[in-house]
Amino acid sequence: MDKRRILLLGSTGSIGIQTLDVVSCHPESFEIAGLAAGSDFNTLAEQAVATGAEYLGLADTSAAGKLRDRFPDARVFAGADGLVEMVSAVEPDLVVGAISGFAGLPSVLAALEAGINVALANKEPLVAAGALVMETARRSGAEVIPIDSELSAIFQCIEGECKAAITRILLTASGGPFATLPAEQLAEVTPEQALAHPNWKMGRKVTIDSATLANKGFEIFEVRWLFGVSFEQVQVVVHHQSIIHSLVEFCDTSVIAQLGWPDMRVPIQYALSYPQRLPAPLKPLDLAAAGPFTFAEPDAEKFPCLRLARQAAQAGAGYPVVLTGADEAAVQLFLAGRIRFTDIPVFVERALEAHDGTPADNLQDIQRLNDWAYEYVSEMRSNR
Ligand code: MG
Repeated sequence: MDKRRILLLGSTGSIGIQTLDVVSCHPESFEIAGLAAGSDFNTLAEQAVATGAEYLGLADTSAAGKLRDRFPDARVFAGADGLVEMVSAVEPDLVVGAISGFAGLPSVLAALEAGINVALANKEPLVAAGALVMETARRSGAEVIPIDSELSAIFQCIEGECKAAITRILLTASGGPFATLPAEQLAEVTPEQALAHPNWKMGRKVTIDSATLANKGFEIFEVRWLFGVSFEQVQVVVHHQSIIHSLVEFCDTSVIAQLGWPDMRVPIQYALSYPQRLPAPLKPLDLAAAGPFTFAEPDAEKFPCLRLARQAAQAGAGYPVVLTGADEAAVQLFLAGRIRFTDIPVFVERALEAHDGTPADNLQDIQRLNDWAYEYVSEMRSNR
């Protein structure tokens, strides 16, 4: 394949670091043209030296100032708007969207508007702005290629298939670290316990969302928008081993699955090389060692975030924006030790109930509604 110039947005997070690992294994196929992150100057500076990226960006403007001093020959972009400008300045073959939270949306939209393919790890763009993101991609002809393991699995299962023949998407969930913990003990779990995911190495926000199952709720939206199915066609199935990354059922009852060890570098690499495949320096799957495999229905009573996601999906309008904005704030409060784990869904539900149902379908309205939901939850008090 021709060498691809990549702009990596969110380079200092878990997906960003693993993306650089994949890129370093295939210097003949990929080149890092630009790196951007939030505020982690030290990690970004190290990455800039290692990759020789010519374009650098930090959302934190004072940290970006330090970048200018340290890399006088690089083009440095500062602030949230700077990261958006960076997309058109770099003109990459592919943007990797790995910024955490709602902050990732504007740059992803800018890339798609410019007709640049986006390998997307960041969930909020498709949950809060799914229609806008997919319509923007359709207009320019750019593709959204999923990085997340379950979405990558579905993407691989339907490759070459007729989409009209899809009857169901079986979205697998590990169940998170508290799958077997009695529901009455959930209120007392600490951020450290919630951050210890049994199978996957991920960023802090996504790991907490995996523990509450909010993450699985968000993936229902991503499946709906990426693959054009209805919300009702997406069924969540708990599979603790995280070896089967998701399955697709077709109209003849045939079910196709994608399997592998839980290692994010596999779906990341596929998103970078798509539609081609490259070898990976990883151990092959050993089914006997990985099994036995179990499957179960998710416990919707113990994990209300899944139900709230379904409700927001059904209600449509601005509800999905409120869902993600409220969740982002609630997760921050939990990580800061200010609320209990079980307060997360309670706070999200209160924000959903307080929303007046106004639609939000352009970036400005979506941004405003997200900020409202974030503030609304940030100002709530815990019952503890
Ligand atoms: Mg996932």
